[in-house]
Amino acid sequence: MHKAPRGTFDILPEEHSYWKYVEEKAALLCQLYGYQPLTMPIFEDARLFTRAVGGNTDIVDKEMYVFQDKGGQELALRPEGTAPVCRAYLEHGFYNLTQPVKLYYLGPAFRYERPQAGRYRQHHQFGFEALGEADPVMDAEVIEMAWRFFLSLGLSGVHIQLNSIGCKLCRPGYLDVLKEHYSGHADSLCPDCKGRSVRNPLRLLDCKKDHCKGTAETAPKATDYLCDDCQSHFETVRVYLGTLDIPFHLDHRLVRGLDYYTRTVFEVEPQEQGGQSSLGGGGRYDDLIEALGGRPTPAVGFATGLERIVLNLKRQGVDVPPLPSPVAFIACLGQEAKLEAVKLASELRKAGLGTVMATGDRSLKAQMRQADSANSSYTIILGAEEVRNQSAVLRNMGSGEQQTVPLAELIRVLKSR
Ligand code: AMP
Repeated sequence: MHKAPRGTFDILPEEHSYWKYVEEKAALLCQLYGYQPLTMPIFEDARLFTRAVGGNTDIVDKEMYVFQDKGGQELALRPEGTAPVCRAYLEHGFYNLTQPVKLYYLGPAFRYERPQAGRYRQHHQFGFEALGEADPVMDAEVIEMAWRFFLSLGLSGVHIQLNSIGCKLCRPGYLDVLKEHYSGHADSLCPDCKGRSVRNPLRLLDCKKDHCKGTAETAPKATDYLCDDCQSHFETVRVYLGTLDIPFHLDHRLVRGLDYYTRTVFEVEPQEQGGQSSLGGGGRYDDLIEALGGRPTPAVGFATGLERIVLNLKRQGVDVPPLPSPVAFIACLGQEAKLEAVKLASELRKAGLGTVMATGDRSLKAQMRQADSANSSYTIILGAEEVRNQSAVLRNMGSGEQQTVPLAELIRVLKSR
């Protein structure tokens, strides 16, 4: 028996009420803030991610699904959405449009990770990106948008962690003092951090191991080493967030796992925290489009994982609207009635009334069981006598009440209810 690959799962019909709920809230949010949809391919040239996300990040170095296609091209299943959005921005000349260009996407991302609750090898991300704008008001708007999204979903206790990691001018100086701090603790670092201190020192701050956490707590803070421009940008973002009444906590250990970030970085954490707690994350990436071959283009964005949202909706017992079920189920007895049922089903659907028809030659009792599992509001019963009288028995599945209705009246009667 085949099974879904490790770290992947089927989203079953009964789960789809949650997914539809989240996807609709996402589309509504983007409409509110003036973002337009963009759908990118799920695989891209692998070098796009190496260049954008960084060859020394876990995402690219350890987790990316890379393969050669039959033409010998090295492709990667996308591990994230920001780099593909920037690629599309450049490819379609969006820099010629009025800036900022605001885009959103929703779709799968792939990372070869150790599967556990909230961490999968295929997950789905909803992300939005504002490209071509340096104004700190844009950072605040993106953070507000993320905040409003989780509120609109009915999730409570969500909170925002915020930091600034500076720019290419001030970060090297900060990395020097960070490395110096860690060199005093070199012997006690975990093997991963030993590697990070050489390859990607900023990520040292993010280590989840107890001992390394202590070293990170006492580490110098990036915000104390920002250049004047980064300092003033960060201050202005915080002023806007204050004006918008968006609560946030400064977290000097927040650095994000992708190399393209500059200045503002933030994460959204759920009420109940665990190992895989982050609901979403984002920030500014002012150098990325240039690194991909474009002109210097400031940008800021955010992405969140749908699986973790659904997990938290369930944990918090948030009620989501059920998927619509059919209005009518048609049960029929005998060949003549079946012929009438086929016609009727087609007419009801044409009139916009969701209809399921009994198939096979089951007893009326078995067909009523089918009607129950179709979860229709009404069952229409057709037998030889009904066909003769051009009528049908209409049964309200909620109350059990039955009445005989002329076939010609059925659509009107169903619509009026
Ligand atoms: P990142 O690009 O790593 O910041 O991821 C953005 C968001 O995607 C995270 O906050 C999670 O909600 C979600 N996410 C990332 N990786 C996974 C994964 N392996 N499984 C499920 N969700 C994930």
